[in-house]
Amino acid sequence: MRMAVMGASGRMGQMLVQLIDADARARLSAVVERVGHDWVGQDLGAAMGGPARGLTVTEDVAVALACSDVIIDFTTPAVTVALAQKAAEAGVAHVIGTTGFSDADLAAIAQAGARGRIVRAGNMSLGVNLLVTLTRQVAQALGAEYDIEIVEAHHRHKVDAPSGTALMLGEAAAEGRGVALADVADRGRDGITGARASGDIGFHAIRGGDFIGEHDVIFAGEGERITLRHVASDRALFARGAVTAALWLEGQGPGEYSMLDVLGL
Ligand code: NAD
Repeated sequence: MRMAVMGASGRMGQMLVQLIDADARARLSAVVERVGHDWVGQDLGAAMGGPARGLTVTEDVAVALACSDVIIDFTTPAVTVALAQKAAEAGVAHVIGTTGFSDADLAAIAQAGARGRIVRAGNMSLGVNLLVTLTRQVAQALGAEYDIEIVEAHHRHKVDAPSGTALMLGEAAAEGRGVALADVADRGRDGITGARASGDIGFHAIRGGDFIGEHDVIFAGEGERITLRHVASDRALFARGAVTAALWLEGQGPGEYSMLDVLGL
């Protein structure tokens, strides 16, 4: 399968290049960086500090779409929303790992998904997607007398909070309780907040150093607490999930899918 990487010089982009190179089912067809980036016009191998490999980094998405079956995209919301339309028009599948979307962004991606083939996941790992399923089940089993708090930790460069994964976990908990997350989310308390409202789902974001990604879902009741925890210790985890999603999309019809679909959870 011919795979293009959007944002090739990024933390996830470089990881994706390595994993696609190592996967016999995939071939790296194109690599894209933003206009004005140092890597544009350079050979990818040289840009990554190795020998030349005959693939030039482009700033032109159309070039990448013309020679690819799928484009894997871990960039920024504005870039991803624009790409979703173009990929759908070009008949190229789109794996979206980007996080931090507004509701309007998500609606635009859903619109692209009506024609194109998309997998979008705030977290591409098997473990986190399993945690999503468990969170939904536990929230359903326990009443609102168990307070749900979601605590996440990421590296100092992350620009959005709460993380896409924390929001996925929050959505799952709200779904398990049969409520809308927007009605119960309580993000980053500060000051004289008053007592905690029963049924709220709290979010807290730690930022610092080189945390790759850690998530705790705490169900705190009277006399006991349950904590569901996931710790990512290698960024390759997410890139592997993205490549799995790209391969899975080959046999699918139009639609916007999640990693739960890809993993059969
Ligand atoms: P990063 O800043 O290291 O990389 C982003 C890259 O995108 C940069 O190289 C940047 O130059 C490039 N870019 C920006 N505009 C572009 C454009 N118009 N065309 C092409 N490239 C462009 O960030 P990162 O840590 O790799 O994370 C990227 C995104 O992926 C974030 O939203 C992050 O939260 C998300 N993420 C998701 C998962 C997951 O499993 N879903 C895992 C890790 C990170």
